[in-house]
Amino acid sequence: MDRVYNFSAGPSMLPMEVLEQAAKEMTNYNGSGMSVMEMSHRSPVYDAIIKETEADFRKLMNIPDNYKVLFLQGGASTQFAAVPLNLMKTGKADYVVSGQFSGKAYKEAKKYGDAKCIATSEDKTFSYIPEITPDMVREDADYVHVCYNNTIFGTKYPEVPNVGDKVLVADMSSCITSEPVDVTKFGVIYAGAQKNMAPAGLTVVIIREDLLGTAREDIPTMLDYKTMADNDSMYNTPPCYAIYVAGLVYKWALKNGGLVAMKERNEKKAALLYDFLDQSSLFKPTAEKKYRSLMNVCFVTGDAELDKKFCKEAAEAGFVNLKGHRSVGGMRASIYNAMPTEGVAALVEFMKKFEENNK
Ligand SMILES: *Cc1c(COP(=O)(O)O)cnc(C)c1O
Repeated sequence: MDRVYNFSAGPSMLPMEVLEQAAKEMTNYNGSGMSVMEMSHRSPVYDAIIKETEADFRKLMNIPDNYKVLFLQGGASTQFAAVPLNLMKTGKADYVVSGQFSGKAYKEAKKYGDAKCIATSEDKTFSYIPEITPDMVREDADYVHVCYNNTIFGTKYPEVPNVGDKVLVADMSSCITSEPVDVTKFGVIYAGAQKNMAPAGLTVVIIREDLLGTAREDIPTMLDYKTMADNDSMYNTPPCYAIYVAGLVYKWALKNGGLVAMKERNEKKAALLYDFLDQSSLFKPTAEKKYRSLMNVCFVTGDAELDKKFCKEAAEAGFVNLKGHRSVGGMRASIYNAMPTEGVAALVEFMKKFEENNK
């Protein structure tokens, strides 16, 4: 079978050029006589790879010098614990629950201190982002945690929430590098890499330097941001190969115009799909317009059997992984950076035909 249009929420598509480059270098990286998978993470060859990956990521995201970049393992889910263990000094932190992952982060934080949910959109099945104002945040909370793009419900923050002078922590797993963000507005940004940056196994953390070294004493060494920062993400073996692929992806994004161009392209792709959904008599988008994600487009027909039929016929036509998350049903088209505009356009054509045939 040829390559399909893969709308998986994660792990998800990588740019073809990146896959081809990785394939070309698979057995012999840059004259080293070995694969990146096989080399010591302490070797000069690998040292150059991780340093260049970080430099390119900093350039792409415009990360200021007073922020550290950490390349970790454990997925974004491990960060749900790492964040409170590192940042809760008073033992208090405030959470916005706008979907399933932010709910999990909140639940995890409650294990380690007084975590409070200050706003949620659960009343309307997470179809919107609750409004946040500084007066909602507790005076003595150490930070406010948000999930910037809700992968399962297809919503995102239209702008950076205003939490006053509080440290803002954001899970950006499903939107990182999809558009420019002002890193200075955040204390910590973290993301599992398998949605928009790399294969699974890598978690990226961007942290402001003054937030290092405040972890509670009984924190597992592996979760202490300071340990990882002091050792340039090499306290133990980092996810070497995933970091290398992330580096190729960052180069690809830079070569293609950086995050300004990514945003432009992503907006165009999302508009193709949302414009069709808005006028369709069969398919309905589920997220409120103002909060629509550029990355995860969720929709339903309103008939579970018809949803199933759609996903099946779509897959047969080469549009795969359109089934919504098991917790919500319906459909979800994840259209990360690597999804070409042609893929979305072709999907819309297919949906038009399906609508015609299922009136
Ligand atoms: C996928 C995802 C997670 C979970 O990531 P893992 O790397 O599987 O732990 C957390 N948050 C968001 C927003 C996600 O999209």
